[in-house]
Amino acid sequence: MQAEPSNRPYEECGVVGIWGAPGAAGLAALGLHALQHRGQEAAGIVSHDESRFYQRKGLGLVGDVFGDPRDIAQLPGDCAIGHNRYATTGATLLRNVQPLFADFEFGGLAVAHNGNLTNAQTLRQALVKRGCIFQSTTDTEVFVHLIAISLYSTVKERLIDAAKQVKGAYSVVCLDQDTLIGLRDPLGVRPLVLGKLAEGGWMLASETCALEIVGAEFVRDVEPGELVVIDKSGVTSCRPFKNTASRFCVFEYIYFSRPDSQVEGRSVYQARKQIGVELAKESPIPADVIVPVPDSGVPSAMGYAAESKLPFEMGIIRNHYVGRTFIEPTDQIRHLGVRMKHSANHSVLAGKRVVLVDDSIVRGTTSRKIVDMVRAAGATEVHMRISSPPTKHPCFYGIDTPEESKLLAATHSVEEMAKVIGVDSLAFISFDGLYRALNHVNRSEASHRYCDACFTSDYPVELVDREGRLIA
Ligand code: AMP
Repeated sequence: MQAEPSNRPYEECGVVGIWGAPGAAGLAALGLHALQHRGQEAAGIVSHDESRFYQRKGLGLVGDVFGDPRDIAQLPGDCAIGHNRYATTGATLLRNVQPLFADFEFGGLAVAHNGNLTNAQTLRQALVKRGCIFQSTTDTEVFVHLIAISLYSTVKERLIDAAKQVKGAYSVVCLDQDTLIGLRDPLGVRPLVLGKLAEGGWMLASETCALEIVGAEFVRDVEPGELVVIDKSGVTSCRPFKNTASRFCVFEYIYFSRPDSQVEGRSVYQARKQIGVELAKESPIPADVIVPVPDSGVPSAMGYAAESKLPFEMGIIRNHYVGRTFIEPTDQIRHLGVRMKHSANHSVLAGKRVVLVDDSIVRGTTSRKIVDMVRAAGATEVHMRISSPPTKHPCFYGIDTPEESKLLAATHSVEEMAKVIGVDSLAFISFDGLYRALNHVNRSEASHRYCDACFTSDYPVELVDREGRLIA
């Protein structure tokens, strides 16, 4: 058996939980389908009926893993949790696919997690020394072992005990034979919402778009540091951590969440559009047409076009039948992926001064290809406007970003980036503009409420493993 690469997977994920609804696994699969943008590498569901747990996990999209009606029929019961996974490094192994399920002293428990723990390696080493045998390389298994060795008696107390030892970003859903539990880390970096199913029963999900697909009513966000327990008596809640100001991930607004989702009571779509408005105010340019890089640039390009009173046109057409170019493993394939995914709409671009709007530049690969394509289609000028500040630092809290040296903005000034990408001008939204778009007065009033470490390197949760490695 080959040893797995030591670099741990950073996970972007989607989670769902269903309690008290016949055909729970089917509802969970629909929820995962709506959350497919949060992870495309693998999917899994664990269900529970009156007698036992059932699980199905597989590599690929939700439709691949649960495409056959028999797949869901094998997961009976009124309760289920599910997970979509996308990890960038480390081998893609079935044993890393969540939910993780284990038999404990108190019975079975399934756990699924979105986010990333920053002390997982440190805890893991300590647990291995104590004799714990790990089956996977995911951070989530640290939770499983901490729950197993906890001296508390109830699942809830054991989970709290585990949560007090981990650091990082985690929105967790757990299912035992009686209860569905949801927990958000004290800073609430990743989202988690509570919904009510029309036929009775409850739902937890990473985003409201997963509630929509099954017709569940949005009840509220699970709050940062809140633990909700759903059982026969309904929903109860407790706050096991001491009160700290929350730091929601601003990149969920910029790119990660689906535009039809509501996060923190705000529409992601409207937020993105407003960022486009602010971007046009800050960085206008004489042009003929505003073109989004689809899909991620569409709402902000609409805002930019409206504010600058220029026509919005689909000058680039996206083929939806290929996965995200970003997830392809080598630069060569990533280049090819861009061509497979986007093509130029000559009728819109030829002879025009074009403003391209996208949400972010990470490595710069996508932008460079797209700019080449737009020029080849006859654009006379190509300007680029980005609805986030420059991405200069990696995320350690669950959004996949490459190491710092591969981030174009970490090693290049904006002018240099413009040259690399091949545009006539390049501008990013300012922090003040970004936070104004999110209804704050300015950056200083807002940035301590968000995690924007990928732009600022202000990491709100201690990077225990990383600091340990640096010292070693
Ligand atoms: P790049 O070619 O590396 O500059 O990729 C930038 C593109 O990837 C942007 O257009 C974004 O829409 C998208 N993107 C940004 N962050 C992520 C992420 N964490 N995962 C997947 N795609 C991303």
